[in-house]
Amino acid sequence: MSTSLDLRNFIRDIPDFPKPGILFKDITPLLSNPIVFQNVIDRLALEFSDRGIDTIAAAEARGFLFGTPLALALNLAFVPIRKPGKLPYKTIAQEYQLEYGTDRLEMHQDAIGPGRRVLLLDDVLATGGTIRACRKLVAQTGAEVVACAFVVELGFLGGRQTLEPTEVFSVVIYP
Ligand code: AMP
Repeated sequence: MSTSLDLRNFIRDIPDFPKPGILFKDITPLLSNPIVFQNVIDRLALEFSDRGIDTIAAAEARGFLFGTPLALALNLAFVPIRKPGKLPYKTIAQEYQLEYGTDRLEMHQDAIGPGRRVLLLDDVLATGGTIRACRKLVAQTGAEVVACAFVVELGFLGGRQTLEPTEVFSVVIYP
């Protein structure tokens, strides 16, 4: 597996999306290249293959794009974390703060439990609000969050610091 492949060549900057002032990191060029996509999954798998993790949990929608292939690569359970009203069985929920107002994430109540060792995964770490809500959701079940992993980290937004003391791993960091 090559770690010299520069993934930044496959991540496109879209200014002012979805609103003015946001520089959106578009990962669709990466997804459209199977060698590069596989390389990302391989790098994540290498990092977390030997850590006693039994579950990958990821938030919709782009977290699923990386979470499901990683779960299969490592032969682990995959647990979806979803927006309100999407999951069919009984759920637990966690509210979190947005710039304006609040949002909510849900997980099936029987998806994870005490003793489980969970890796949280998302495509982009920005302010960290989404992944902190996921961490609280997992903590509610009594399971342990071993680490948070990302394909892209926007280092200048300081999300990593807000996740302390949880370990953070990112494949690509924009300092
Ligand atoms: P945050 O909760 O601020 O860490 O934001 C993380 C979530 O929003 C992730 O699920 C990302 O997919 C998305 N996101 C936030 N900022 C960006 C950005 N600049 N480019 C792409 N996705 C972003």
